[in-house]
Amino acid sequence: MAAEVVEMTERLGDGYDVVVVGGGAAGLNGALMLARSRRSVVVLDAGSPRNAPAEGVHGLLARDGMPPAELLERGRAEVRRYGGQVVAGTVAEVARDSGGFIVGLADGRTVRARRLLVATGLVDELPDVPGLRERWGRDVLHCPYCHGWEVRDQAVGVLAGGPMSVHQALLFRQLSDDVTFFCHTAPRPSGEQAEQLAARGVRVVEGEVAALEVAGDRLAGVRLADGTVVAREALVVGPRMAVRAGFLAGLGLRPAEHPSGAGEYLPSDAAGRTDVPGVWAAGNVTDPSAQVGAAAAAGAMAGAQINADLVAEETRDAVDAARRAPFSAESEARACEAVAGDGRHGF
Ligand SMILES: Cc1cc2nc3c(=O)[nH]c(=O)nc-3n(C[C@H](O)[C@H](O)[C@H](O)COP(=O)(O)OP(=O)(O)OC[C@H]3O[C@@H](n4cnc5c(N)ncnc54)[C@H](O)[C@@H]3O)c2cc1C
Repeated sequence: MAAEVVEMTERLGDGYDVVVVGGGAAGLNGALMLARSRRSVVVLDAGSPRNAPAEGVHGLLARDGMPPAELLERGRAEVRRYGGQVVAGTVAEVARDSGGFIVGLADGRTVRARRLLVATGLVDELPDVPGLRERWGRDVLHCPYCHGWEVRDQAVGVLAGGPMSVHQALLFRQLSDDVTFFCHTAPRPSGEQAEQLAARGVRVVEGEVAALEVAGDRLAGVRLADGTVVAREALVVGPRMAVRAGFLAGLGLRPAEHPSGAGEYLPSDAAGRTDVPGVWAAGNVTDPSAQVGAAAAAGAMAGAQINADLVAEETRDAVDAARRAPFSAESEARACEAVAGDGRHGF
């Protein structure tokens, strides 16, 4: 019986009003809006949300601390409750089709879509320091709003590298008095930045970081190339953010460098509309700073906009069809007005 349920939810139809690529917060909330608008919608999801290594989702009203996998499981159930489908799969390419798009999956399946919502998120490209990757999302962090409270009052290190490193140090200084800035391969901050770090009591350590020291599955310190170990309980990094949007190349839709210098993004307007008609984007793929709440909100906005766009198209088609129909009420009224003018009343 259980196998039957899985089989039914996994089967892809030939075509949908909307194919949502990516089933994180953005994609699922978009699909929820569309399914509730009685749109046929499928979410195709590769199953690796950005925050998978994190223990809980923080800063999300009414769901603070919920494990990321549980939040998404609830989201999938909500989409399915309204008839939306959520199917496991990786989209490999998208091409134009007369009625919209043909979406090709890596496993060879294809599906047609009138509209596309891209919600594939991003990948954090981590600094290449031995021992760092294994601790990502636990005591190697990037965001004060996601896990800053959890490391409050701890010995925090900030690894320079990204354009926001000094800003990150100042934000984490709000959460702990003990913040050390590791220059690593970047030049020592100078001018205004050096003044800010000094004024806020952030210690600056020069020299390349060689590895992280770990004891009992906890970060213990940062080891410099000269062998010095600086004891730290958490390390903040600034990953380069790379979007997962290569499958859109066939549509001529390519990521651009984000103005912050933190990586790439897929440009879109405030409603999620991209430069390619019929393609919307929401969440981290278009806004690298969006947390879960903002990603979900953007997905909901894009879903509503896509529905409105389809309604407009269907209304245009209905008006055209009514005008073309020889004996429709509208064409009768037009003919009557043309022939009898104001005297038509009573006919
Ligand atoms: C370590 C860490 C901790 C975090 N903690 C928090 C926190 O506490 N609170 C908070 O608000 N935010 C947190 N965030 C940020 C959070 O991860 C993002 O805000 C959120 O994941 C963005 O949602 P999204 O839907 O845009 O993308 P994602 O959640 O990344 O979802 C995108 C989905 O698309 C799928 N996908 C990608 N490419 C394809 C493809 N070609 N075909 C099909 N599917 C595809 C992926 O597998 C994934 O399932 C954290 C981030 C990190 C890195």
